[in-house]
Amino acid sequence: MSATGFDVCVSGSGAVAMSLTLALSAEGWRVAWAREPESARPAQADVRTYALNARAITLLERLRVWPALKAWSSPVFEMKICGDSGGALSFSAWQQHVAELAWIVDAAALERLLGEALRFAPRVEIVPPLQGAQAPVHASLLAICEGKHSGTRANLGVEFVRQDYGHWGVATRLKAERPHNGVARQWFRSPDILALLPFNQPDPEASYGLVWSVPKARAEHLLSLNSADFELELNDAVLQSAPQAAEQIGHLSVTSDVAGWPLALAQADRWMGPGWVLLGDAAHQVHPLAGQGLNLGLADVDTLVDVLREARAREPWRALGDERTLRRYARRREAPTRAMAGLTDGLLHLFADQRGPLKDLRNAGMTLVERLGPVKHWLVGRALDA
Ligand SMILES: Cc1cc2nc3c(=O)[nH]c(=O)nc-3n(C[C@H](O)[C@H](O)[C@H](O)COP(=O)(O)OP(=O)(O)OC[C@H]3O[C@@H](n4cnc5c(N)ncnc54)[C@H](O)[C@@H]3O)c2cc1C
Repeated sequence: MSATGFDVCVSGSGAVAMSLTLALSAEGWRVAWAREPESARPAQADVRTYALNARAITLLERLRVWPALKAWSSPVFEMKICGDSGGALSFSAWQQHVAELAWIVDAAALERLLGEALRFAPRVEIVPPLQGAQAPVHASLLAICEGKHSGTRANLGVEFVRQDYGHWGVATRLKAERPHNGVARQWFRSPDILALLPFNQPDPEASYGLVWSVPKARAEHLLSLNSADFELELNDAVLQSAPQAAEQIGHLSVTSDVAGWPLALAQADRWMGPGWVLLGDAAHQVHPLAGQGLNLGLADVDTLVDVLREARAREPWRALGDERTLRRYARRREAPTRAMAGLTDGLLHLFADQRGPLKDLRNAGMTLVERLGPVKHWLVGRALDA
């Protein structure tokens, strides 16, 4: 603990802030958690399901959240991705020599269970939110995990270079007629992208989380529909995309509210400075087509804690907020984040173009990757590790 108060002040109320607070407390640091009051939290439960990779699950295991969260999660054994003109790509856990490719996790349960774990975490104190860029308590390091609209980031003069996709991610929970068998499916329908993520609630064998990325006007239309009309449009879209898969899945019924999020690509122009550091969506925002946003944020948490632990062992005289230490964190995280942002953005633009030659080329490209075992293996390796 620092002589003057807290070691770290973590600002933010989402999964990244909570994971970081838990991880720092487990390492013996004294943490002030500056979170929004309960009354500022959205009244509606988050209907999203997150695809979390192996690295994220390992972190949640270390934080002792995973045993309870597993009841709200479903493994993915196979991933089938289809283009808009016959291109197809599939990945399976056995081909990759892993037990599962990813876990589909209930977003609301994740936040709730992290919150419960924090109630018992030693050396953690809840403090009021920041005023300007000023922490409410003295701490050697301010860790900013306030999500994409972070006010503290703006107050520090950090530019968040943002490119609006003009698309929204529409999410809901579904129940299917037939079992999903742990198969995740994604269709690049140009311009929209439709993903069905196998889930275990309400039906353990036949539920899905839906993420449907669509142009804003179409999202507004979908969000205005009642459940029955939404179901009609969704089942029709699945049938048009893949009649055979529609047959395997059976009729899809909506089992929750339908909600939408505007999608953008964004990156902070600086990730750290003297005494402060950015993590999660406060540092970067990516399109959810590869299900990587939170995986990147949890990898930030894992890396920052590693870097601080290493500095404590090797250079115990250095303050936690020392720029040299924080620069190591930024160096380790900036490259993989840019690579993932580039990959999702590239795929999105590739499939946004309606011209015939490009359409044929991208579908042929998918089929080529499908045949090139090592390339496929490499792609999945990157996704498992973020
Ligand atoms: C449709 C959709 C599907 C997605 N699917 C996936 C997926 O499958 N896999 C995946 O890995 N990622 C996915 N993501 C991305 C994921 O949702 C985000 O990357 C993740 O929520 C970021 O977490 P965070 O804690 O950094 O930010 P947030 O979740 O935005 O949390 C930040 C919180 O801090 C609060 N806050 C702001 N200012 C302050 C302050 N001054 N003091 C205290 N609190 C403050 C905010 O109100 C917010 O509650 C998806 C995103 C979308 C839109």
